[in-house]
Amino acid sequence: MSDVSRRAFMHVAGVAAAVVGATSTNAAVGNPSRPTAGKIKVVSSANGLEATRKAYEMILAGSDPADAVVAGVGIVEDDPNDTSVGYGGLPNERGIVELDAAVMHGPTHRAGAVASLQNIRHPALVALKVMRRTDHVLLVGAGALDFAKAHGFPEENLLTELSRKIWLRWKETLSDKDDWMPDPADNDIPVADFFRSRSVPLVQSAATRDVKVASDISPMKFRRPTGTIHCAGMTRLGDFACTTTTSGLAFKIPGRVGDSPIIGAGLYCDNEIGSCGSTGLGEVNLQNLCSFAAVELMRNGASPEEAGMEVLRRVAKKIEPRLRDKDGHPDFGLIFYLLAKDGRHAGVTMWGPEKFSVTDENGTRHEDCTALFTRP
Ligand code: ASP
Repeated sequence: MSDVSRRAFMHVAGVAAAVVGATSTNAAVGNPSRPTAGKIKVVSSANGLEATRKAYEMILAGSDPADAVVAGVGIVEDDPNDTSVGYGGLPNERGIVELDAAVMHGPTHRAGAVASLQNIRHPALVALKVMRRTDHVLLVGAGALDFAKAHGFPEENLLTELSRKIWLRWKETLSDKDDWMPDPADNDIPVADFFRSRSVPLVQSAATRDVKVASDISPMKFRRPTGTIHCAGMTRLGDFACTTTTSGLAFKIPGRVGDSPIIGAGLYCDNEIGSCGSTGLGEVNLQNLCSFAAVELMRNGASPEEAGMEVLRRVAKKIEPRLRDKDGHPDFGLIFYLLAKDGRHAGVTMWGPEKFSVTDENGTRHEDCTALFTRP
């Protein structure tokens, strides 16, 4: 057994002992047959199936896990049809795409991040450069753009025709107290489908984030689109890295920064323990430092699933009334993707059903998230 895997094993044994003493409800935690570090594993959000495959292959070929997960999410940053990340991401309220991303590297415990970055397609790669080529952790706005350009990243317009039309439809149907008017003859199917898929019956919610949309889907309320990709990987030696990259909350106030580039909120890893990252409403992650909290719960013996569910329960308990539905439940999505040093993993969600992506020695697949609440 190498030094690294011996350390990993001793840590796992310590956790098992602590948990057996602390709780008897999780028999699996004390199960000596569960895997220890030694197997490569990559987890990601549902939109990251190909990201996990790519990162797994790179780790298998000997890449540093940070390079691997950043290359994995790069596939989705490039995808014009994913309106939540990179190229084609939905813009801020002025129609400008502003991206947030971060990377954390377990072996060095270093991190890099960028926020409110415009015109650069691969913010996770810029975050990796911040981690490796500066003495800083977070660069924002114009400074982040200057830094990216200094490192040779090309500037480009990230607004695709689809994301521009979705933004314009949102703007034109937002209020009858301004001068922007939708084209009554407009029947752009992809745009209409976008709004339809994010609309909920009026009775569902009184949350102030809901906004009026085009009459063709009335009477519905529009769920503000969020979306992001998180990806975390572990090498055979139990070394972690994770990344989160996003265009953030659609139609946000310019300059709004979510949880994705904030270490401890949108992602966190500790090489002795594991990793957690998140997608969903960033503000609650910022208020609760959810990814850090989940890793700390794992340090104290919780399984990935227990840790994630406990953080979801804490969020659900503390949120303001305006973020609750008529039953008092959280009126937003929040998902955590967790990976532990012993190889266990979990996806947990505020609202199910939801899926997450995994690649390990058993292949590439979607798995079900464990849900705190389930929609009928
Ligand atoms: N967490 C991201 C943010 O708030 C959005 C998302 O994950 O959907 O910026």
